[in-house]
This record gives sequence, structure tokens and C-alpha cells, in this order.
Amino acid sequence: MNPRTFAAAGIALFFASCAAPDSGSATSWKHDEWGHRPGPKGFHTVIIDAGHGGKDPGAISRTTGLKEKDLALDTARRLQRQLSGKARVVMMRKGDSFIELDDRASRASGRDGTILVSIHYNSSSSGIRGPETYYWRVDSHGLATRVQRAMASVSPSESGNRGMVRRRLRLTRNPDVPCILAEIGYLSHPAEARLCADPNYRERMASALARAILDQQAKGDAGTGSLPKPIYAPPSRPTDPPGS
Ligand SMILES: [Zn+2]
Repeated sequence: MNPRTFAAAGIALFFASCAAPDSGSATSWKHDEWGHRPGPKGFHTVIIDAGHGGKDPGAISRTTGLKEKDLALDTARRLQRQLSGKARVVMMRKGDSFIELDDRASRASGRDGTILVSIHYNSSSSGIRGPETYYWRVDSHGLATRVQRAMASVSPSESGNRGMVRRRLRLTRNPDVPCILAEIGYLSHPAEARLCADPNYRERMASALARAILDQQAKGDAGTGSLPKPIYAPPSRPTDPPGS
């Protein structure tokens, strides 16, 4: 099928799935390459992906000296405990190990009734702060909305709310299940780096993530606004120019 025909078929499928009465129910929730459909309800498994690890430290705070890979794993473990007994949890990494992004995407794929939540801490040279949530798939919009709202409610008001960003990343485009990437805060911002160094703050952020995930599990996309338009773009590759 050429890309145009494929796109047209995909749009037809998208609207058909919106109209289906059981779309989003636990029994119908299959993995899907494009994710051009409403968000999931009743999923049973949450894959928690702690960003970076091993030889890849991610961002390192100049204020606290803490590394993103350690903060992300700590937050992932807190989220795992918060979800205990409420959802099946799969940890992408349990310790300080390095996993290629493409391996993370493929490990998350091919599973029904599953979502992926990737946890990161941010860095920038421009002095900004506040939580951010990345998503790409239409079926991840509701979850991203819930996660961003929940993180913004924990973040101090002066931090602002960096909002949701629709971006084709390897962990937002390539898995064939609903997937989002949560950036808890900016390690490059001194005050926010100190906040992120506080275990109580990370616990509150993990609790916010758990609440958002369980709300999505119980309610699907209800109350998360209208769905974004489907985008037909190829999987993200390491050779892609930044920001594409
Ligand atoms: Zn990161």
C-alpha cells in the first residue's frame, strides 16, 4: 500500500474505532502500531521505564550533584510501590543498567492491555523549570493529560506548568502500546534541583503519577479533552535531526 492509501485507511479505522461502543475496554485493548484511537481503559499492566542508566547518567545537577539516572530509578521504584496491588508492574530496569532506547521500545511492544510510562528529569541552559509530559500517539493523549495535570498539582505554583509536548521520540512513537514520557523537573534549575533531591517531593510526584495512571485505567479518556489529530510519521530513529 502506498503511504497515501495507507493514511486514508488509517483515518477510516481511527473513526471506526472512535465509534465502536467497546473501544478502550479491557477485552478489546490490543497493541497497535499507530495508536490512532482513543486512550485505553481497563489495561492491566504498566511498564515503568526509568530513563538512562549504567554508562548513561542523563542530566547531572550542578546544584546537588545528583544524576538523572538515579533520580529516575528512585522515582520508578516509588511509583512501583504506589501501584502495588492495583496494576501489574513491569520494571524496564531494576538497577543501574544501560538499555538502548530501541530495546526499551521493542520490549514494551506486542503486549495487549499494557501502557508504558517513562520517567526522566530534565535539563536546559535557559533557566526554565517545571514538569513536562511528552506524548505522540493519539491513544496516549488522555494519559499524558492526566499525568501532566497531576504533576503540575504537586509542583510549586511558581514553577509553572511546562505542559504537554507532542513529540516523536523513540519512547513516544515506536512502542506499539500507549506510551508517555514524564519529565519530573529541571535539574538545571537550582531551586527545582533541590526540590527533586528531596525524597518527599519524589514520593509526591510518584503518587501523582500513580493517581493519573489509575484514573486512566478506571475512566479512559473521560474529562481529558478532545483527541489530537492522527499524524502519519515514521518511527523515530537515532539518525533523525533533533526536534524532528
Ligand atoms: Zn532523560
